[in-house]
Amino acid sequence: MARYNGPVCRLCRREGMKLFLKGERCHTEKCAIEKRNFFPGQHGKSRRPKIVGYGLQLREKQKTRRYYGLLEGQFRNLFEKAAKKKGITGETMLDMLERRLDNVIYRMGFGTSRAQSRQIVRHGHIQVNGRKVNIPSFQVKPNDVVEVREKSRNNPTILGARDATAHAPTPNWLEVDREALRARVLSIPKRDELVQIQLNEQLIVELYSK
Ligand code: SF4
Repeated sequence: MARYNGPVCRLCRREGMKLFLKGERCHTEKCAIEKRNFFPGQHGKSRRPKIVGYGLQLREKQKTRRYYGLLEGQFRNLFEKAAKKKGITGETMLDMLERRLDNVIYRMGFGTSRAQSRQIVRHGHIQVNGRKVNIPSFQVKPNDVVEVREKSRNNPTILGARDATAHAPTPNWLEVDREALRARVLSIPKRDELVQIQLNEQLIVELYSK
């Protein structure tokens, strides 16, 4: 499957904020945003134009897409599915992003970043309601039980991530048993529980509705 292989801190610097793409490093003083929060590139220091209109919509979309680690086509597909559902399209889109299995593993604290969590899912370490699921875009729903499979319970990557993220808050819509490497989805996440960064999903709806 195609994925972005370039330098990820550059993406944060382009958006001018932390997108938490590199695991524990994002919470240390080594974070590139802490050290050099200006645009990437040769003229980055002198570039900080005021963005309005289309530019603002585009930046909001790029920021959200990068935060969740999706390529353009994947993000567009997800948006189109959200647009066909009942409700407010922007909120539905965020809800669908948040209930992706790779994001749920990250929120449970069994991956230090979404990229690592995606790899954990793709390598077949996770089961949902007792059945192996290796599709990162799989959508969990209320009452689903997500857990690390029996054969992967001693996996050093998962155990290391669990220890490293012990301080991280768990969202209210998940009930996590860190010792058992298991979580239950309690409810559909509410808007204010959805993202840790500031974003305006309505701008993305406007961009894609042109
Ligand atoms: Fe790099 Fe993480 Fe800091 Fe972003 S938040 S600049 S990915 S260390």
